[in-house]
Amino acid sequence: MANTGYNPFENAQAQFDGVAETIGLDSSMREFLRQPMKEFHFTIPVKMDDGTTKTFKGFRIRHNDARGSGKGGIRFHPEETADTVRALSMWMTWKCAVADIPLGGGKGGIICDPRIMSAGEQERLCRGYVRALSENIGPFCDVPAPDVMSNNRHMLWMLDEYETIVGNRFPGMITGKPVGMGGSLGRTEATGYGVIYTLKDLLRCMNIPASETTASFQGFGNVAEYAARMYTELGGKVTAVSCWDNIEKTSYTFRKVFGCDISELAGIKDKFGSIDKDKALALGYEVLPGDAWLKQDVDILIPAALENQITPAVFGDISSKVKIICEAANGPTTPDCDPLIKGRGIIMLPDFLCNAGGVTCSYFEQVQCNMNYFWDKDEVLEKLERKMTEAFRAVYDLAQEKGVYMRDAAYMIAIKRVAEAVRLRGWVT
Ligand code: NAD
Repeated sequence: MANTGYNPFENAQAQFDGVAETIGLDSSMREFLRQPMKEFHFTIPVKMDDGTTKTFKGFRIRHNDARGSGKGGIRFHPEETADTVRALSMWMTWKCAVADIPLGGGKGGIICDPRIMSAGEQERLCRGYVRALSENIGPFCDVPAPDVMSNNRHMLWMLDEYETIVGNRFPGMITGKPVGMGGSLGRTEATGYGVIYTLKDLLRCMNIPASETTASFQGFGNVAEYAARMYTELGGKVTAVSCWDNIEKTSYTFRKVFGCDISELAGIKDKFGSIDKDKALALGYEVLPGDAWLKQDVDILIPAALENQITPAVFGDISSKVKIICEAANGPTTPDCDPLIKGRGIIMLPDFLCNAGGVTCSYFEQVQCNMNYFWDKDEVLEKLERKMTEAFRAVYDLAQEKGVYMRDAAYMIAIKRVAEAVRLRGWVT
């Protein structure tokens, strides 16, 4: 993925090692938890529309399932790597544990670019992915979901292929399905809203009214759009949003210092979260370089696109006004930047707490599918907010009690919960 010279799996391991040392985790448990339990690497031959066959590379990696079935999205990206999937599967383990849902960590990926594939080619790719994995995914084994550039249509094709293979209906095999076809109301909004539920709780603890804050986002995909919507509903002002331009193959930042209109921007973005530059200019947005989102004089930075975006090399660009970094994306900050952020006294809402709303709602989707009874949207969102607030409180209180950075507190809680499940199962004694 984003080629910044950082290896996300090494980052995930470095974060784990640091906390394992602090909490005195024994060496056999450390060895077990610092790597995935299972990995599947496979090829997917796909008949392309021009009559040729193209071979894609797929991955599914299960980091740990001591607390419940593996859970995690499938990323479609031309620069996908096994190490990115390993890191994401490990972060999923901690995320499910910190959100206290009975699931483990998994992740999938396909090296592909759906932006240049027809719907038919994408369908055949999705079905091929499931054929390669059908014995190693399922409602009680490992449950996929959408991630970057994969969507509810892809999930339904995958479910259909799985049910065709096993000869029965198992809607809990995958989450992120369309509403009416086993999807949960509120899933589209869940990750972004979850980010803002935790931010709202943090601002309350800091005695700062959301309506007196400003924020700058990296990304304007699913997570960023709904986070920005809820943040502006609370009265916050989004002054800048950056995203990738699929035509020019570069990123841009769109800025309105008096506040972006999120519905307006959503109306001029494509399904991959790219904002139309000409339309934005016509609507009065300044169009700045892609990294300008990080340099804004705002209270809150919300990286909501890719990993490895906040590094020591760019840390100096962050305004002294920034009080909070709210990690909506997975792994946007590199471990070597954490000490600089701590040093400046910026409060960090760590990714696997902050963006746990998606997996929490996916868990609700699975529960609803298994019951074959679906809740209304208010019920889903009310349960989601309660879960996010409980998770935030546990992390915030521990961080205050021990005087530690919130990422470390979140890791302490998650690692202890997973290690306890591993011990209770007798895997590592
Ligand atoms: P998405 O594909 O919907 O959107 C990604 C956004 O990032 C797009 O707006 C794209 O233009 C932008 N982007 C890509 N490269 C960029 C660059 N170099 N500079 C600036 N912007 C760039 O993805 P999403 O679902 O919103 O996921 C975003 C992040 O949140 C990822 O890290 C993902 O793993 C994480 N996440 C997603 C969910 C979920 O439910 N979707 C849940 C938890 C975590």
